[in-house]
Amino acid sequence: MATCPSCDADLDFDEFEVDEDEIISCGECNASLRVASTSPLELEVLDDDEDDDDDEEDEEEEEEDDDEDEDEEDADDEEGLDE
Ligand SMILES: [Zn+2]
Repeated sequence: MATCPSCDADLDFDEFEVDEDEIISCGECNASLRVASTSPLELEVLDDDEDDDDDEEDEEEEEEDDDEDEDEEDADDEEGLDE
């Protein structure tokens, strides 16, 4: 009989029914347990961090580039180029 490495509760599964690398969960503490090895049976508690706030949005406001290049034609600059 295997026991939960997290809360020491008796786990309700047969160690011969699980495969290596299988993820089971403890019915008592809801920990996710990975079967690290089947003989002997070794269970590994997985971090069940659901508060994984890796979603930090880097909202760097760019300075608005309002520098419109108004290329106004210098009209009538060719005045008086008469012979
Ligand atoms: Zn447990």
